[in-house]
Amino acid sequence: MTTLITLYFLFAVPAAGGPARGWAAAPRQDPRAAGRAQGRRRRREQVRALRSRARCSPLSSTWARPPPSAANGRAEPSASGKGELAALGTPPVVSCCVPRVLVPETGVGGSRFPDEGAMSARRALKAVLVDLSGTLHVEDSAVPGAQEALKRLRSAPVTVRFVTNTTKESKRDLLERLTGLGFDIAEHEIFTSLTAARNLLEQHQVRPLLLVDDKALPDFTGIGTDNPNAVVVGLAPEHFHYEMMNRAFRLILDGAPLIAIHKARYFKKKEGLCLGPGPFVTGLEYATDTKATVVGKPEKTFFLEALRGTDCAPEEAVMIGDDCRDDVGGAQQAGMRGILVRTGKYRPADEDKINPAPYLTCENFPEAVEHILKQML
Ligand SMILES: [Mg+2]
Repeated sequence: MTTLITLYFLFAVPAAGGPARGWAAAPRQDPRAAGRAQGRRRRREQVRALRSRARCSPLSSTWARPPPSAANGRAEPSASGKGELAALGTPPVVSCCVPRVLVPETGVGGSRFPDEGAMSARRALKAVLVDLSGTLHVEDSAVPGAQEALKRLRSAPVTVRFVTNTTKESKRDLLERLTGLGFDIAEHEIFTSLTAARNLLEQHQVRPLLLVDDKALPDFTGIGTDNPNAVVVGLAPEHFHYEMMNRAFRLILDGAPLIAIHKARYFKKKEGLCLGPGPFVTGLEYATDTKATVVGKPEKTFFLEALRGTDCAPEEAVMIGDDCRDDVGGAQQAGMRGILVRTGKYRPADEDKINPAPYLTCENFPEAVEHILKQML
């Protein structure tokens, strides 16, 4: 009997689940049920992380992709999040003339109203902004068919404006070049980052050290440059040497504001890609521990200024350009739709560099115009 009692206390009592001192009792579970619960927990955490990333992305703060079924046939998000996970695992499909419909962000893949995606695709188009270098021409060569495509675009009931970050030449020289290439463009239709920079200088009444190409200087006629108290940096290959950069560096250290006409990393010439002003602006920012004021693309104010006088809201405009970040990303941040063309500085997979992706990617300007005329009016 004594032996039986001893065996009972040794084996039966612990097996009944009596909690050990200092540890909480764990409920007994079927191992398969526990595995399923763990899987559900992991999926919920992944969905939470996905939603958090979408909310934190600076480029997704204004616009988000529509429900996938409306845009490209990808899985609908579900309450369990399985659809969103499937979408996460599928690389974005970017194909020519298959537009992505952009709707105001309401969460990952969410739309505020059931039919909003379809309505957005058909919303009125009042203005088309067109980039110049790389989109209509590369140096002294026009993109094939671009002149004729521009004529067709002008026959549509939309306002056309030309927006450029070029700092290599004045607006007058630029107009001469475009006219010489057979483009029908008026001076008042061109909005350049040089104009935006001049507006800022006048607004703040400062005297700039101008690091721009000498050919761009006519656009600053009348702006005082003696005893400079500001630094303006555009594309100025002849001025990007140690002595001049050091002069700019010292002025900024003394309190002069640094104004970047734009911060393009590179641009396209016939012989290949070339360094833009961005690396030089960034060098000055790094050395002086300051941040430049950027006036050209992709700044939102640049796009809004370009629309001034057109009686057109950003959501009623589309931007066509060869720079995914500066043209398309910037325009979409300002509330417009953006069409990326695979000419000029375009490189494969550029469309993956922004989120949300371009509304549309086309081979060239004529194809973009074709889409606008057939699908957006
Ligand atoms: Mg361009």
